Amino acid sequence: MNDGLPTTMAALFKPGPVAGLQLIETPVPHHGDDDVLIRVLLTGLCGTDLHIHAWDDWARSAVRTPLIPGHECVGRIVATGSAVTGLHEGQIVGVEGHLTCGRCEQCRAGARHLCLRNTNLGVHTDGVFAEYVAVPAANVWVHGDRVPLEVASIFDPLGNAVHAATTHPISGMSVLITGAGPIGLMAAQICARMGARAVVITDISSYRLGLAEHIDVTPATAPQAGPDELRAAGGTPLGFDIGLEMSGAPEALQTMLDAVSPGGRIVALGLPSKDTSVDWADISTRMLNIQGVSGRRIPETWRSVAALVANGLDPSFVITHKFRYDQHVEAFATAAGGKAGKVLLDWA
Ligand SMILES: [Zn+2]
Ligand SMILES: [Zn+2]
Repeated sequence: MNDGLPTTMAALFKPGPVAGLQLIETPVPHHGDDDVLIRVLLTGLCGTDLHIHAWDDWARSAVRTPLIPGHECVGRIVATGSAVTGLHEGQIVGVEGHLTCGRCEQCRAGARHLCLRNTNLGVHTDGVFAEYVAVPAANVWVHGDRVPLEVASIFDPLGNAVHAATTHPISGMSVLITGAGPIGLMAAQICARMGARAVVITDISSYRLGLAEHIDVTPATAPQAGPDELRAAGGTPLGFDIGLEMSGAPEALQTMLDAVSPGGRIVALGLPSKDTSVDWADISTRMLNIQGVSGRRIPETWRSVAALVANGLDPSFVITHKFRYDQHVEAFATAAGGKAGKVLLDWA
């Protein structure tokens, strides 16, 4: 079937509902008529992967094992299924990790990001932490010639950042971002570029806030900087027009509610790793708007990301580490440790 290709590959594997990952040798996946087979070159470690690695409450509730995790990648097409058109061997591609059904009401209405039968690559089906991955051709994004490989490898989280930052008009607004992980940092960069009046970004990690010095935003240390200090830092005594919650940290959720203005608009992207509560009365009495955001709009966000990069957006400042795949233990420890931005695994 896969002429000229190896029959087995290296992969990071979670055999069952336990913490950690194993490096194994496993068969190269079969690709169906509508699929392409990709030789994975670089993968990104995402917060989702850290949840899966640690096997926390969220992972227990959401993830199916056995599993090869991972969903952020750049790779090269090495084989195409018999029904695939418009794609060919050798193309450098990324992968949309949401595997949508294409048939439900949401998909047919053009809202694939809200698919009723969505499954996620590397969460429900085998993902990209491997030398090869087979994915539906419909989920492939072909990169332009001039996109550096490392930037191409983070198009997925950059898409999260673009999706979150473009949920509401940004020009002229004051924006608070809680969480200076790679997505928060990239969202801050995009908000500044799109003409926000002020962008304040918080984190508990001074290392991560240090990365914010590469872009034109105001870093603030949590939890020391409370809602009043944050408003002052943003020059917005009434409160922020827009909040992007990128941390999932329980303390940050309440800070966010308190720091936005009455009627403020909050975009919620961070995943809490444990049960948490917020003051619901605050949302009601201060007439706050909360919009959940997950993944990307398909394919609109991919187009926006490609256009921003083609027009000079350089998000590579968030990439701080690159490890070979067989250094996965060190890579995951680094990503979980707070002294890292985006951590890449090299499978080439
Ligand atoms: Zn991700
Ligand atoms: Zn669907």
